[in-house]
Amino acid sequence: MIVVMAHKASEIEIDRVLVKLKEAGFQIHLSQGVERTVIGAIGDKTRLRDLALEAMQGVEKVVPILQPYKLVSSAYMDGPTVVKVGDLEIGGDTIHVMAGPCAVESREQLLESAEIVRRSGATLLRGGAFKPRTSPYSFQGLEQKGLEFLAEAREKTGLRIVTEVLDPRFLELVAEYADVLQIGARNMQNFFLLREVARAGKPILLKRGPSSTIEEWLLAAEYILAEGNRDVILCERGIRTFEDYTRNTLDLTAVPVVKYLSHLPVIVDPSHAIGKWRFVEPMARAAIAAGADGLMVEVHPHPEEALCDGPQSLNGDNFNLLMTKLHDVAGVMGRKLGNRS
Ligand code: PEP
Ligand code: MN
Repeated sequence: MIVVMAHKASEIEIDRVLVKLKEAGFQIHLSQGVERTVIGAIGDKTRLRDLALEAMQGVEKVVPILQPYKLVSSAYMDGPTVVKVGDLEIGGDTIHVMAGPCAVESREQLLESAEIVRRSGATLLRGGAFKPRTSPYSFQGLEQKGLEFLAEAREKTGLRIVTEVLDPRFLELVAEYADVLQIGARNMQNFFLLREVARAGKPILLKRGPSSTIEEWLLAAEYILAEGNRDVILCERGIRTFEDYTRNTLDLTAVPVVKYLSHLPVIVDPSHAIGKWRFVEPMARAAIAAGADGLMVEVHPHPEEALCDGPQSLNGDNFNLLMTKLHDVAGVMGRKLGNRS
């Protein structure tokens, strides 16, 4: 349930409501906006009537949240959440593009990738140092060395770093280097990991599981918000269907649906959804037209030599072309595109 306090509710009035809710065993999540205070309370609904909150001074209304997820629900916030990554704002007017190789393979490969994506207007650099590979015999990532190269690329280009955390054992290490911690599709329902990563106090990119419904995805995000971390960016990256021409099926319906159900920003990863580089551009355009707040795109200076996901990676020229087209679509949507002018 949400208790919306009146515009001019005093500290004392807010406190009285908080005390009453806590005494009744409710878990409290306070949201103090510029306009008003909103109190999220999770607990036994049947006790609501006894509490008579609406009769209390300073309370404007009490709104039940019927969905199983509460804190991620759009009912919980007055407007969309903007996630700050350094000076970047994800979920605001600017569409941010996170681009880079699937995996950090070497210092040269990463620095070259970073320069390519920065030049074309990306604002974040992606690249896995720990890779969740289907086969144990595939390249698993450079681990700490990879993180060090990412940090060097940030230093040289000013790009922010987004990289995946696979396991709580490496969380401290990854959090030392990353600006955004990525939870990969395969780990979307690794609830223990979600809780741990939430506590690192950094923005989190939560990918949708390949076989997850929108509700399951939002409930996974709820785990993070319930730990007190509100900086969650949702990422649609394709779901598994009977279609096998493409790697997955990009569920673009998720963009407007999630933006309706939740206040969290939503981005789209067309690379992992489609799995073939030539279809990345049209679907990236469609994602922005559907209202996505950003994109994650795989870019490699030499896709034919990539150790991971080469077939879906754009080379520098194709990424630049993509950004030129996205700039136009963003303009039609009344938005700006990253660093592209
Ligand atoms: C990735 O972005 O590096 C990745 C592994 O993607 P996903 O978790 O969506 O498969
Ligand atoms: Mn990949």
